[in-house]
Amino acid sequence: MPAEAIHISAYLDSVGPAAHGVPGRLRSFLADPAKERAARLGAVLVDLPYFNRFPLAVARYFVNLPQAKSTWGAIFHRQAPALVGRSLLTLARDEGALRGSPEGELLLALALGYHSHVALDTQVHPLVNALARPRAAALGRPEMSEHHDVEKYQSIFFHEDRFGREFMGTSDLTRYISIDSALLMRLAPLINRALRVSLAREPKRAEWRRWARGYGQYGWTLGSALGRAFAPAEAKIEWRPRVYTAVDFPRHMEAATQRSRGYLDAAWSYVIGDADEAALGQVVLEGCIDDPPPENVLPLPDQPIATSPQSGERH
Ligand SMILES: [Zn+2]
Repeated sequence: MPAEAIHISAYLDSVGPAAHGVPGRLRSFLADPAKERAARLGAVLVDLPYFNRFPLAVARYFVNLPQAKSTWGAIFHRQAPALVGRSLLTLARDEGALRGSPEGELLLALALGYHSHVALDTQVHPLVNALARPRAAALGRPEMSEHHDVEKYQSIFFHEDRFGREFMGTSDLTRYISIDSALLMRLAPLINRALRVSLAREPKRAEWRRWARGYGQYGWTLGSALGRAFAPAEAKIEWRPRVYTAVDFPRHMEAATQRSRGYLDAAWSYVIGDADEAALGQVVLEGCIDDPPPENVLPLPDQPIATSPQSGERH
């Protein structure tokens, strides 16, 4: 199953109080709590289809079966991530996001969070794949299972360092990744309208409901005692050097956050009419974000980063 806390953190670091260079109007637009809830929803929306029937996913995980295939997960990650994002932005604008329409504003906030997810996956998945591929081959394991393990441990170590304490199996984690599922169901018809325009298909309402329920179960499970079973202490000792320390994962996260800021900036410029579709497309590159082409990936920052104190501690 995918790791979601990292998407919340990337979003918060892109526009949160410690983020630099965020246009003032964008920052104040997102500062409102309801919009922030919508943006958090957007930041995990791309992965939501993977939470369909979550208890089954847990069972598969513990018997070492790969995650079940998800049509919508593949559509959001492989088929047209940038097109879907643009379509959400366009609809939000048409719905009056800048003229004070509550639905338009919430959809815009969701679309911004969505772009932050796309940016993070684009930037970090090449590293995840480079770590997962050879080991999956050596162990005779499905590549996606290994991919999810790498992501999971990277997220755990990143947040243990960020918060200075154990993260899995705590109610802090449940709170940190929680989403407003009533808000999701309220916005689902609008999201579907954007999907109809861009892809000529849409998830059923029952699917959105199942994904939201599964996601809630996921958050609760990771925060419960069972959460620790996903990352036993001995395994963490073994995984940390390989997938986190040796590859300097925090620098990859910094590059991902930079990319996310760039995407949010471009998305905002598009919505307010300072940039056209082509200009947006030059920043938010279309293409698979599970296995992005190397030219889509930013170089790592030269200097090791100073982690922003307190950022992300607002929840
Ligand atoms: Zn994703």
